[in-house]
Amino acid sequence: MRLSRIKGQERAVGLLASASEAGRLSHAYLFHGPDGVGKETTAVELAKYLNCEAGGDASCGKCRACRMADGLSHPDIHMIFPVPRDLKAEARAEIIAGYLRDGYRDEDFGRKTAIISVEMVLSGVVVRANQRPYVGPWKAFILADADRMTTEAANTLLKTLEEPPDMTVIILTTSRPSALPATVVSRCQKVPFSRLAPATIEGILLSDPRFGFDSKGAKAAAALARGSAGRAVRTDKEGLAAELDRVAAIVQGTRVRDVKTLVDEANTLAFRLGRHEQQKLLDLMLLWFRDVLVLSQSDESTDPPDILYARHRKALESHARGMDFATIGRLIEKIDEARTAIERYSNPTIVFTSVLLDMAVARKRAGATRGVGYAA
Ligand SMILES: [Zn+2]
Repeated sequence: MRLSRIKGQERAVGLLASASEAGRLSHAYLFHGPDGVGKETTAVELAKYLNCEAGGDASCGKCRACRMADGLSHPDIHMIFPVPRDLKAEARAEIIAGYLRDGYRDEDFGRKTAIISVEMVLSGVVVRANQRPYVGPWKAFILADADRMTTEAANTLLKTLEEPPDMTVIILTTSRPSALPATVVSRCQKVPFSRLAPATIEGILLSDPRFGFDSKGAKAAAALARGSAGRAVRTDKEGLAAELDRVAAIVQGTRVRDVKTLVDEANTLAFRLGRHEQQKLLDLMLLWFRDVLVLSQSDESTDPPDILYARHRKALESHARGMDFATIGRLIEKIDEARTAIERYSNPTIVFTSVLLDMAVARKRAGATRGVGYAA
């Protein structure tokens, strides 16, 4: 079995493929791993493969069953996902439409809590599992974010998980397996999904024009997505360009001789930004020095260097000329350490003062050494 649409989840797909080839697909799976890495898409692709009328080692994508599966309209493939109790039918349809647009659900219900209710499990799974398939041969039930089942819903699902009817597969997905009742987890075969490499996310973003990314934007979004293609797909592209400008200004504004500005800047970053924004800012600073590194290693005879801060090329080049490889490497390390420190709730004022000072000192040294042609 091949699930060629699934990128960067070789382990999960490998587990499913070997089970399928041995004729030992489980009737209940728990796909667990971070949000936005392809758990639901894999579940749909598995269901599609099982029901493909061509019966090859991969779904054909052309037969009636495949086309219905792609439109999430296959009468034997059911997707159940958490919604607020009072969600209107149109809003529900909009969520499905969103999923169909790009394969990643965006379920931001604001302050409302989304749940999978006992009614949803009863009518969506229990009743249908005991009916004959309409088209078949397989019935597939995908419970996305299954940890949002109410206790009653989970108890209702248990019996079907214990004694699933033939030719039925139930796939639960979650980013929080520990939030699921142990009784549910123990009845499922676990399949781990991992964070995606930036290059994989970049490939996903560029693979489909509907996502609307050019190569620079895809690189930036992938670098900032922390392994989640779902997060990358939803990047605010205009906001990103503005953020790049802001980081460029901060990095260029650090000067040893102007310690007061430096400390003010550190205070602003420490007090005005939330922890996640602070981490993102440090990620963007890392990417700035990655660009400096790329430029410092490129010569004019080669292809144009692949840099993210293309609009600030002059400033990058001036950094690249002044800093040697070891200095840039040390700065990258320092910024990375700062990121970890923020993650561990260290004092952000100290973290940012230290990181801005490191940058300023590196620039001053670079300026001093450049004059005498010192390059070690
Ligand atoms: Zn097919």
